[in-house]
Amino acid sequence: MEYLSGFAAIVGRPNVGKSTLLNALVGTKVAIVSDKPQTTRRRILGVVDEPGGQLVCIDTPGIHKPKHALGQTMVGQALGALAEVDLILHVVDASSRPAGGERYVAQRLAAVATPVVLVLNKLDLAPDVRAAALAYGALHQYTSVASVSALAGTGLTELKRLCFSFLSPGPRYFPEGTVTDQPEHLLVAELVRERILLHTREEVPHAVAVAVEEMTERASGLFYVSAAIYVEKESQKAIIIGQGGRLLRQVGQEARLEIEGMLGVRLYLDLWVKVRKDWRNDRRSLAGLGYEPGRR
Ligand code: GDP
Ligand code: MG
Repeated sequence: MEYLSGFAAIVGRPNVGKSTLLNALVGTKVAIVSDKPQTTRRRILGVVDEPGGQLVCIDTPGIHKPKHALGQTMVGQALGALAEVDLILHVVDASSRPAGGERYVAQRLAAVATPVVLVLNKLDLAPDVRAAALAYGALHQYTSVASVSALAGTGLTELKRLCFSFLSPGPRYFPEGTVTDQPEHLLVAELVRERILLHTREEVPHAVAVAVEEMTERASGLFYVSAAIYVEKESQKAIIIGQGGRLLRQVGQEARLEIEGMLGVRLYLDLWVKVRKDWRNDRRSLAGLGYEPGRR
């Protein structure tokens, strides 16, 4: 049998479970997840290896109407992925019904010739999957439909098989065992940001960016990492530091344990909170933080 390979873009509106699905398909956490919309800010690549082939999945920021420059780069990244792939997974929440956000995504799907699979996610929460399939199925000429629970792990084998049926003979794009193309410093920054998202609310999660400024091996297997947590206001800085530095310490400790587990190293994690006014609207700040505009 010939080796099959290709690319799939995972798209949909915010919070439907795209990043959870990517992690579940890859079998390893490569993208951070939270219950806050717009957690994913750039394209994240995850590699699904099977004996007969390789599917490279691209997780994208949720498609939404952008309110600031960061939002524009995020949506650009998501839409830019559509035309360049072998298939598109349009992920929706099967426990809800299509709204304006879905219609907007469907409009963008209509503009590309790529086959689109409708992925009804959150099966575990959906009382009537058939009704959801009918309602969402009317939005676009979907090539296939799949239902999964990315969180519970239901339906993933079938979805993988379906995805591989869209691939053609091709090269192994990434060496065996590769799960993502993200450099370690970005993964570390993302894991710190995920911890902050978990412990903060309202406008704070959206105002946070994390940049790893130094990552050096101090001794065999012991790494020193210094990361800056950017926020937009002094009040947000105070929230993240917390009373007597409690929240920042907790974030640091939780992130350290997870990073150590993932990278198999010991870590000294130094976190600094810095105010950078209005960074989400400052193109230079965005570029410095690695948020590049997507191609349209
Ligand atoms: P994204 O914005 O589309 O990438 O969504 P995330 O992957 O960040 O997930 C958003 C929220 O939905 C998180 O709280 C996830 O734990 C939750 N979630 C994702 N998939 C499922 C699922 O299959 N079932 C349930 N119950 N929750 C899910
Ligand atoms: Mg996401």
